[in-house]
Amino acid sequence: MRTTTGADRAEIREELSRAAYDLLVIGGGILGTSVTWMAAQAGLRVAMVDAGDFAGATSSASSKLVHGGLRYLQTGNVRLVAENHRERRALAADIAPHLVKPLTFLVPIYKGGPHGAAKLGAGVFLYSALSVFGDGMGKVITPHQALSKVPALRTEGLRAAAVYGDHQMNDSRVAVMTVRAAVDAGAVVLNHAEVVGLRKTGGTGTVTGAELRDRLDGTEFGVSARLVLNATGPWVDHLRRMEDPGAAPSIRLSKGAHLVLRRHEPWKAALTTPIDKYRVSFAIPWEDHLLLGTTDEAYEGDPGAVGVTEADIAQILDEAGHAVRDSQLRREDITYAFAGLRVLPGGPGQVTAAKRETVLTRGAGGMLSVAGGKWTTYRHIGRHVLDTLAHLPGQPLGDDLADILPAVPLPGVASPDAVAMRLWTDRDPGARMDPLVARHLATHYGSIAFDLARLIREDPALGERIHPDGPDIWAQAVYARDREWAATVDDVVRRRTTLTVRGLDTPDVRGRIEELLG
Ligand SMILES: Cc1cc2nc3c(=O)[nH]c(=O)nc-3n(C[C@H](O)[C@H](O)[C@H](O)COP(=O)(O)OP(=O)(O)OC[C@H]3O[C@@H](n4cnc5c(N)ncnc54)[C@H](O)[C@@H]3O)c2cc1C
Repeated sequence: MRTTTGADRAEIREELSRAAYDLLVIGGGILGTSVTWMAAQAGLRVAMVDAGDFAGATSSASSKLVHGGLRYLQTGNVRLVAENHRERRALAADIAPHLVKPLTFLVPIYKGGPHGAAKLGAGVFLYSALSVFGDGMGKVITPHQALSKVPALRTEGLRAAAVYGDHQMNDSRVAVMTVRAAVDAGAVVLNHAEVVGLRKTGGTGTVTGAELRDRLDGTEFGVSARLVLNATGPWVDHLRRMEDPGAAPSIRLSKGAHLVLRRHEPWKAALTTPIDKYRVSFAIPWEDHLLLGTTDEAYEGDPGAVGVTEADIAQILDEAGHAVRDSQLRREDITYAFAGLRVLPGGPGQVTAAKRETVLTRGAGGMLSVAGGKWTTYRHIGRHVLDTLAHLPGQPLGDDLADILPAVPLPGVASPDAVAMRLWTDRDPGARMDPLVARHLATHYGSIAFDLARLIREDPALGERIHPDGPDIWAQAVYARDREWAATVDDVVRRRTTLTVRGLDTPDVRGRIEELLG
C-alpha cells in the first residue's frame, strides 16, 4: 500500500499528474470515499483528493450512529427507516462487524414530556419491526429497569423508558478503512491536496480535471479526468462556483456540535431524550466516554471555520440535563468538543433532491455535485451516485462498467472478540498484551491488529501506551504514518487514534508524534 510520507506523496502526485483518469473525485469525506470505492470496484480508473485529511470535516464530526433514524417515523417515512435498517444491519453483520457495534437506546419518558409512553412504545415497536426484530423487540421498561442500564439517569418524574436497538462506530476509523478499501480496489488517493481551480476543455467549458496545491509543501500539480465529481460536503457550492461563477446556491448549512466527557460509571445503554416535539438530545457511551449532542442551528460562515462556542456547550449540557444527573455533566469532565455542518437541500438553485436527502446537481461544465445524506447509508449513496455518473447523457464513462459485488467487506473484517482473544493469548504469559489494549485494537482495526502485533514483536517499545490513561499504543502511530496516510499530528491524534477525544493529546504527546512523523 502507498504511504503519504515524503517521497511517496511526490510519487502519488506524479502518478496523478501523469495518468488520465475516468473519474476524479474531489473531497475525501465518506461520500467521496464511497463513490471512489464503488467506481474502483466497477473497474474505473479513479482518483480522489482531499484538501485536508480524509474525513477531516463532517465525516469525523457525526454522532457516530449507524441507525435507522427513529425520528423519520414521526414524518411517516417508514420505507426510509426500513432501508436504513437494512444497510445498518449489513454494515454490522457483513461489511464491518469489527468496527460497527450494537447499542441499546433508551428514550426516557418524563411527566409532562413532549411524548407519552403509549406513543413512544408504539414507535419503538414499529421501529424494531421495520428491522424484522433483528435487534430484539422495541418495548417499554420501568424506571427501575432503566436505571440499571444507565446509572446516571435522572429518575425524578420518570414514568418509563422506551427501548430500541441501533449501532455505533468510530467514524474516523471507519472512514480510513474505507479509503483503504478503495485503494485496495485500485483507486489513487491523496489527502492534504486542495483543488484550487478546475480544468476546462476548449470552447465548451467542459470540466476535465482540476488544478491542485499540496497543502503540506505548496507543490502545484493537476489531474485530468473524463468526469469530475464534486463531493466536498459543506463546500459543494464553492466548487460549483469554480465551474460556473454564476451558479446559484444549492444547499443550506446547519451546525451540529458535540461534547465528549469523562464517564464516571459504565453505561449499558445510550439515551435519546426528547427535548421538544422534534428535537432529541443524545447521551451515548462511546470510547469509554460519554458523547453528548447535538445542536441544530443555521450556519452561514466559512465552513472551514466551524467550531464549538460557549453557547453550544451551555446548550448541550443543559439539554443533556433533562435526563442525565448533574454529577455526570461537569464542565471539568469535558475532554473534547467538535462541530460539523449538515448539508440540507435548499437555496433557490436548480436542485434535484434525490433519495436519502442527498442533493445531486449537474453544472454547466458537466461536473456532477453531490452532498448531504447519512453516514449510515454511505454505500448505498456511493452506488447511486456511480449509477448516475454511468448514465449521464452521452455516457462519458462509456458502457463497460463491471457489476459491483453486493457485499465487499472493509479491510480487517473479523470477529472483534476472536481478534482480541488471539492478541491477548498469542504471546508469552509474561509479555501478553493488556486486555484493554487488545480489545481496543480489535474493535478499531479488526484482523489488521495482527499487523500491529507484528510491529510490536519487531520493536517491543511500540507496544507501549502513548498516554498512560488511554489504550492507544505507539504501533498505531507508526501504522498511521506508514499505512494510513497520516501526515500531520492531528491526523494521528484526532482521527487514526482516540487520543484527542479522550483529552490525551498533551503537548508532550503531540511533540513525540511530530518527531515520529519527521
Ligand atoms: C452534527 C452531525 C451529526 C451527524 N450524525 C450522523 C450519525 O450519527 N449517523 C449518520 O448516519 N450520519 C450522521 N451525520 C451525517 C453524516 O455525517 C454526513 O452525511 C457525512 O459525513 C457527509 O460526508 P461528506 O463526504 O459529504 O462531507 P465531508 O465529510 O464534509 O467531506 C467533504 C470533504 O471535501 C473536502 N474539500 C472541500 N473543499 C475541497 C477542495 N477545494 N479540494 C479538495 N477537497 C475539498 C473537505 O476537506 C472534506 O473532507 C451527521 C452530520 C452532522 C453534521
